[in-house]
Amino acid sequence: MSTYEHELLKDSFSIDKRVLSFIEETEAEIKPFLEQTLRVARTNQLKVLAAMQRNRLSDAHFGFSSGYGYNDLGREALEKIYADVFRTEAALVRPQLVSGTHALTVALFGNLKYGDEILSPNGFPYDTLQGVIGIRETKNSLMEYGIRYRQVELAQQDEFDWDGIARSIHEKTKLISIQRSKGYSWRRSFSVEDIGRLIRFVKGIKPDVICMVDNCYGEFVDEREPSEVGADLVVGSLIKNPGGGLAPVGGYIAGKEEFVENAAHRLTAPGLGREVGPTLGLAGTLLQGLFLAPTVVSAGLQGAILSARVFEKLDFQVLPRFDEKRSDIVQAIQMQSKERLLAFCEGIQMAAPVDSFVKPVPWDMPGYDHQVVMAAGAFVQGSSIELSADAPIKEPYIAYFQGGLTEHHAKFGVLLAVDHMLKQGLLQF
Ligand SMILES: *Cc1c(COP(=O)(O)O)cnc(C)c1O
Repeated sequence: MSTYEHELLKDSFSIDKRVLSFIEETEAEIKPFLEQTLRVARTNQLKVLAAMQRNRLSDAHFGFSSGYGYNDLGREALEKIYADVFRTEAALVRPQLVSGTHALTVALFGNLKYGDEILSPNGFPYDTLQGVIGIRETKNSLMEYGIRYRQVELAQQDEFDWDGIARSIHEKTKLISIQRSKGYSWRRSFSVEDIGRLIRFVKGIKPDVICMVDNCYGEFVDEREPSEVGADLVVGSLIKNPGGGLAPVGGYIAGKEEFVENAAHRLTAPGLGREVGPTLGLAGTLLQGLFLAPTVVSAGLQGAILSARVFEKLDFQVLPRFDEKRSDIVQAIQMQSKERLLAFCEGIQMAAPVDSFVKPVPWDMPGYDHQVVMAAGAFVQGSSIELSADAPIKEPYIAYFQGGLTEHHAKFGVLLAVDHMLKQGLLQF
């Protein structure tokens, strides 16, 4: 650390000297794991670059389209490039997909009909998906349309319950929905290999089951995506990993032509499908975000690894541990008390470039059961590829920490959060 940097940390941010040396020490310990994220980023950078070159990306694709968006060249290039990166036949990548939940909703409604059954092999799905399916009662859920749902709980050590899954697949099982990331639960995130093994197992029992992966937070964390190990559909949000922090909105659905097409006829209208939907001048930004995404994901991962080691040394339970293989950018930390949880989130908010002066407070966020606190001083509202932390307010008060557009900012977030907790008297050094 240079003297100037030290001065800034002390004068502009009044960081405690003890915290500075503690973080510096910890960073040195975890160096090999930080470097590993850069190796993955290099591979993914090549993947993205090759896809852009193969599809002859050119400035003709960066124009403005409006209205119906017929022959939107930018949209066509964007979707071909996504399909190439994910190694799929097709992709739907749209600013009209408002969020990850919306993209998953469109993929599900487009591919399921009355009487079909969805199987979740990982217990309860992500909170907002519970509403979409109708596990939690909502208006116009899949269940209201006569689509059935079944789940198999995870077995010991967060392994899949193979027998339970085999027993739950029957004639009506149309789609299995696999959630790669932990979401708001204390479980490991499934690796791409885990997902591949599960898909082979399921297809061995019923070859025509659609295997869909909720890929939110997982993109570019590994060298391969679930679509490279047999997933028929992968779905995610552009204000998480693949938008690289630049995408102002959007979602993607990539996979087999037929299933992507089905989703498209649900997103727009039956009979219109993929042919309409203007990118409104956003294609260039979405592609530039995709180009940066591997590096941005590695920045977030570095913050996550640092926080895992830091909080473990301070005697907190963390998931995953700093030296475990990761499959998403999310770091879960058990804060054990509401005060600590809120102080951690306040610290993350204080480290933000936007709204650093506001204090995050728990609120009744639509789609969630418990109150949720969110620290997100982001350029894009709700963007969680930017430095952010969120948590449902319930025991054992787990903070879910993720993102950071640059390596320095991600690490600084950890530094400031620890410093803030110390100043509140909530940490012992
Ligand atoms: C973020 C997320 C979603 C979708 O959430 P949105 O906020 O609607 O984008 C779905 N599943 C998981 C596992 C997620 O992390």
